[in-house]
Amino acid sequence: MKFMKLSNLHVHTHFCDGTGTPEDYCRAAVDAGLVSIGFSAHAPLAEKTGLTSDWHLPREQFTAYRDAVLACRAEYAALSPPLPVYLGLEADYISGFQMPRIGGLDYTIGSLHCVVPPDISAAAFFARAGKMLTIDGSPEEWRLLIDEFFGGDVRRLVDAYLREMREMIQEGGFDILGHADLIKKNNNPALAPKKYLFDETDAAYRRGIEGIVRALEGSGIVVEINTGGISRGRTKETYPALDFLRLLRESGIEVAVNGDSHYPEHIAAGYETAVETARAAGYTQTLLFEGRQNGKPVWKPEPLTVEI
Ligand SMILES: [Zn+2]
Ligand SMILES: [Zn+2]
Repeated sequence: MKFMKLSNLHVHTHFCDGTGTPEDYCRAAVDAGLVSIGFSAHAPLAEKTGLTSDWHLPREQFTAYRDAVLACRAEYAALSPPLPVYLGLEADYISGFQMPRIGGLDYTIGSLHCVVPPDISAAAFFARAGKMLTIDGSPEEWRLLIDEFFGGDVRRLVDAYLREMREMIQEGGFDILGHADLIKKNNNPALAPKKYLFDETDAAYRRGIEGIVRALEGSGIVVEINTGGISRGRTKETYPALDFLRLLRESGIEVAVNGDSHYPEHIAAGYETAVETARAAGYTQTLLFEGRQNGKPVWKPEPLTVEI
């Protein structure tokens, strides 16, 4: 099966928690037949947050990251056909802190990895956890998060996730919504006892998803169909899931396929599933990024067709 024009704007290199250089990924993108690539290091944490982690781009490395991406841009512009190379970041929304706004980028992906319990501040949460506890870490981290901070009740964590995701969208300041239902990453019976699992088909979860869709309406934010869970063997389906995508489609919200790649060989991993899922949800087009004009992202529709 050969895909029509697809891109990957969600790529992590050795500058944050990925493996490989920007050059390695550009070469992989050409080999995979992608029409463009964008880099999205985990955005440096704003100094005022006082937070540190081993998965974000260190602040002092931003210039080196930007220069490495821009060097690839120049090199791959000379190819025939050229491979447009874009400079982006994946920024964290942390409830109580503002999303980092960094100028000079082509685009920003807004993502929610850390869900702050409603009864304490973000600073107190991370101080007590001793680290930036995430929802998409190991199964042990997932259980600890629920037991220590959500009273052992997975539903409280899921509710907080859905609310904070909606708040992030309402606050805005980013172009692409990252892995919209990342909360399901550890919702896996093979990895966690029943107590730590939730029902993705129940009414409360569905209402939460509907709230996210409502917040997206009219926002201009593009939702990525992210294959990172598939490429790393943690999910069998895309973020967002098919039912979530159906709701997005009904609301006229546009999508773009992204890999959330942490290894060059994953540059287009799971793309077949992404295309099939988008089509099953009723999408007839995805969007391709074409840079920024007057402060706004430029998107070009690409018919969602597959050549056999
Ligand atoms: Zn992410
Ligand atoms: Zn990512």
